[in-house]
Amino acid sequence: MTITAEHEEFRRQLRRMAESRIKPHAAAVDEDARLPSEAIEAFGTLSLCGLPFPESLGGGGGDLLSQILAVEEVARVCGSSSLVLLISWAALTPLAWFGSPALQRLIVPDVCAGRHGASFCLTEPGGGSDLRGIKTRAERTADGWRLEGRKRFISNVGWSHWYAVLARTGPKSFGVFMVHRDDPGFSIGHHERKMGMRGSPTGDLIFENCVLPEGRVVGDAEQGHSYMIQALTYTRPLVSAQALGLAQGALDEAVLYTSTREQFGTPVSEFQMVRGMAADMAIAVEASRALLYRTVEVVAEANDDRARSFASMAKTLCSDTAMKVTVDAVQLHGGYGYIKDYPVERMMRDAKVSQIWEGTNQIQRLLVAKHLYQRPPRA
Ligand SMILES: Cc1cc2nc3c(=O)[nH]c(=O)nc-3n(C[C@H](O)[C@H](O)[C@H](O)COP(=O)(O)OP(=O)(O)OC[C@H]3O[C@@H](n4cnc5c(N)ncnc54)[C@H](O)[C@@H]3O)c2cc1C
Repeated sequence: MTITAEHEEFRRQLRRMAESRIKPHAAAVDEDARLPSEAIEAFGTLSLCGLPFPESLGGGGGDLLSQILAVEEVARVCGSSSLVLLISWAALTPLAWFGSPALQRLIVPDVCAGRHGASFCLTEPGGGSDLRGIKTRAERTADGWRLEGRKRFISNVGWSHWYAVLARTGPKSFGVFMVHRDDPGFSIGHHERKMGMRGSPTGDLIFENCVLPEGRVVGDAEQGHSYMIQALTYTRPLVSAQALGLAQGALDEAVLYTSTREQFGTPVSEFQMVRGMAADMAIAVEASRALLYRTVEVVAEANDDRARSFASMAKTLCSDTAMKVTVDAVQLHGGYGYIKDYPVERMMRDAKVSQIWEGTNQIQRLLVAKHLYQRPPRA
């Protein structure tokens, strides 16, 4: 894929902003499990909150590659900050593509301005892999909808004003509903205590006789599953970029540390086994980046089965790379890799969830294989 000079300049701006305004607070955000408020403020300097959305709604009209670069560079220094950013984008994707203009105008401009956050709500206590098995129900009332059910593991819970909720509208049909945190019958359940990504709150949503006006359904109330599948084809590359950013950050830290740490009277970077590990880390990072950027091209051509397969491949490779590279970065720091004075232990904890969310990597492999066997190559 061709990276334009404009994209390169954008990456430089992102790198400067992330290094100066987000990185200094990343350890405290993780330690205190608090929102990355400094990062949220810094996003405003490059208008990142609205980057994917049309200018008519207050957004920046940025292409997918620009979004990827933004997530990558923020995640390189702070996984939690990148999560807060990308979850709002993911949550508004079905609305931006399929929602009514009135519903878009109600929600999108405040998110673009950084005044409001949004959450993407699929998973339930009964499971996350089987999307068609969800139990949250939406029933028509005389003048709108009533939601009943519960969602689990929802990122940015509490901070978000808006929740894009997939709910069952019939035995085989689903709708996406935009729920505001002040809507009657909506409440937030317990918060999870997590291994990583501790700066983004995660928790349950409860819908008990939650009453919504008619206009809060996104597009067709029977097409929600299809909307979400299409949105995931676009959001999986964002999650991949986050994993890639974590891997790049860990690689950079490992190279820096091994260049200065001395043993046997010489920097440990002089030892061949250390150099070999660093080289393998760099190879994995660049291979992941190449597949992700290729995926961006494929997704831009058409949001079809092929694009879905690419999105799953990129998500799997980037997150497996993030896990491996962050573990190796800890190894290359020796004992210091295991303590909190160095960022690599946080990066390792943050990386793990990238193999689990947006569909586990087992599910991604099933999707890739399904596409392969749909059209087996002819002899
Ligand atoms: C920190 C965090 C934040 C999250 N944020 C969000 C969010 O914002 N919004 C949201 O909707 N969800 C979110 N999730 C939920 C996440 O997407 C789910 O946890 C994930 O999809 C897996 O679902 P599950 O936990 O129910 O596991 P299960 O579906 O119960 O899976 C358990 C195990 O079985 C495997 N498995 C299941 N089915 C198959 C199969 N057919 N073949 C092979 N293996 C299979 C899985 O890969 C997994 O290893 C978040 C999760 C975490 C931990």
